[in-house]
Amino acid sequence: MAESPFKADIERAQRELTEKMTPGAIVYIPGSSVINKTGSWRVFRPEFHRDKCVRCYLCYIYCPEPSIYLDDEGYPVFDYDYCKGCGICANECPAKAIEMVREVK
Ligand code: SF4
Ligand code: SF4
Repeated sequence: MAESPFKADIERAQRELTEKMTPGAIVYIPGSSVINKTGSWRVFRPEFHRDKCVRCYLCYIYCPEPSIYLDDEGYPVFDYDYCKGCGICANECPAKAIEMVREVK
């Protein structure tokens, strides 16, 4: 799988964030939410079938996290560190190229 384009930002936030909870939950570092890996909540994961994908980008647009980005050819790539398994991408995909399967941990 391709590497997340946000990897450098994530690593910077991890280095700079020294407290887990600040007084009043004040956000000192913009973008620090990247250290909260919401993918750990997941019960189902999206499984991508590239051969069916028509590159319409609906999954990319609708993902609320967002944990889908596009590779150099315009195909979606799923970032499982942040995908929480909501299934919206699979629901919106007109080509049935995304299948929700039970997560195995
Ligand atoms: S399952 Fe939800 S969070 Fe995960 S990639 Fe699809 S729309 Fe995004
Ligand atoms: S919604 Fe489906 S067909 Fe469209 S880009 Fe995403 S996976 Fe491909």
